[in-house]
Amino acid sequence: MTRYRKIVIVGGGFGGVKAALRLANKEGFWVRLISPKSYFEYHAALYRSATGHSPLEVAIPLDELFARSNNVEVVEDAVVGMDAEKKTLTGKSGAHYEYDEVIFALGSVTNYFGIPGVDRFAYGMKSVQEALELKTHLHEQLTNHDHDHTYVVIGGGASGIELAGELVGYESRIRRAHHVQNKFQVDLMEAAPRLVASLGERYSKKIRQRLGALGVHVMTDSCVVKETLDELKLKHTSVHSHTVVWTAGQTTHPFFAQYPEVFSFSKKGKVKVDMYMRAAKHIYVIGDCADTQYSGMAQTAIHDANYVADQLIRRYWDWDVTPYRPKRPVYVIPVGPKWAAVRWGNFEAYGYLGWLIRRIADLRLFLMLLSISQAFAVWHYGVVREEACPICRVDTH
Ligand SMILES: Cc1cc2nc3c(=O)[nH]c(=O)nc-3n(C[C@H](O)[C@H](O)[C@H](O)COP(=O)(O)OP(=O)(O)OC[C@H]3O[C@@H](n4cnc5c(N)ncnc54)[C@H](O)[C@@H]3O)c2cc1C
Repeated sequence: MTRYRKIVIVGGGFGGVKAALRLANKEGFWVRLISPKSYFEYHAALYRSATGHSPLEVAIPLDELFARSNNVEVVEDAVVGMDAEKKTLTGKSGAHYEYDEVIFALGSVTNYFGIPGVDRFAYGMKSVQEALELKTHLHEQLTNHDHDHTYVVIGGGASGIELAGELVGYESRIRRAHHVQNKFQVDLMEAAPRLVASLGERYSKKIRQRLGALGVHVMTDSCVVKETLDELKLKHTSVHSHTVVWTAGQTTHPFFAQYPEVFSFSKKGKVKVDMYMRAAKHIYVIGDCADTQYSGMAQTAIHDANYVADQLIRRYWDWDVTPYRPKRPVYVIPVGPKWAAVRWGNFEAYGYLGWLIRRIADLRLFLMLLSISQAFAVWHYGVVREEACPICRVDTH
């Protein structure tokens, strides 16, 4: 073989990290992973960080992930431009990055659908930083004695359900620790007539029942039209609250829209890819941004990453390449302590069994990214609660 292939991977999330790991220490490849953050974020457990569990489960340093790779360079930068003709990318730092092949794994960004005030006043649930901001806000309210009566989670998808289910118990716990007696409620609002509408009626119903048993007030057919500092306006009513969390919308990363001559988009706004996951010559798009059947799940991003990395290896060695085949993900939504709803094709499980499946799924994902000892250590953090209130150090147990 004459020379190595320069692979640039843009984005240090599920897809990007997995693609780099798959190419790590492979003969003939030199890999540069560009990410604005120095750590990988495990989104599936963000709701736990917002509600008192250790953030060590959700943020894993990239350097740690690639400590044993001799051909992967991690660069802390954000890609802001590209020249597809010259095969170069430009970073926010001003640096230029040349590639033979580029893999974009930029993920999605929050979409507020232009609803006035939501971008300003609602808390987010898309990063460790946002999860910790929410946690700090919940405690600050209690120490300042201006606590809300109603906490609102907008979005009846997986993220909203997970958060609402955990928030009730957490708020009770921190209220007890802060000696706050009065009542409160958690509202989960969804614009559609059902929660997780795409996953079948029985699945939605079971989740709704469980949320009800936990004390969450589920409001379907509830479309938010405006938010101010202390009020959320719906079509026919309004709710007074300073604690509103937005989990209701995601959209494709805006980077691609700058290059309509290179990228084309599906009706859903995702980047169209061919049967080898290429958006254009030498340009691959994977994960949330790619228009594939099960796009929008971490499991899909990992599957895409494995596929593209393997195809690059096969091309390098002049082996046959095979077309991309989507892989049906397992849907597992935890709802409150030790309870989860699982749907995998026609198989469904609810309750403690579901929760065990979820813990196994978490471990499986960590094992795809980390060594066995690292994976078990990070997985263990999922059951570790923070010892005390981050504001005034009162014990929250
Ligand atoms: C709260 C929450 C819970 C979830 N729970 C689950 C779950 O239980 N199961 C499941 O399968 N999926 C879950 N998902 C979905 C899953 O997280 C995504 O599908 C997955 O992260 C997509 O992987 P990705 O590689 O496409 O993007 P991401 O993992 O989002 O990675 C994108 C990366 O690109 C980086 N980036 C952004 N802009 C730039 C730039 N300009 N230059 C360079 N890098 C950049 C970002 O920093 C990030 O590291 C959840 C998502 C959220 C938000």
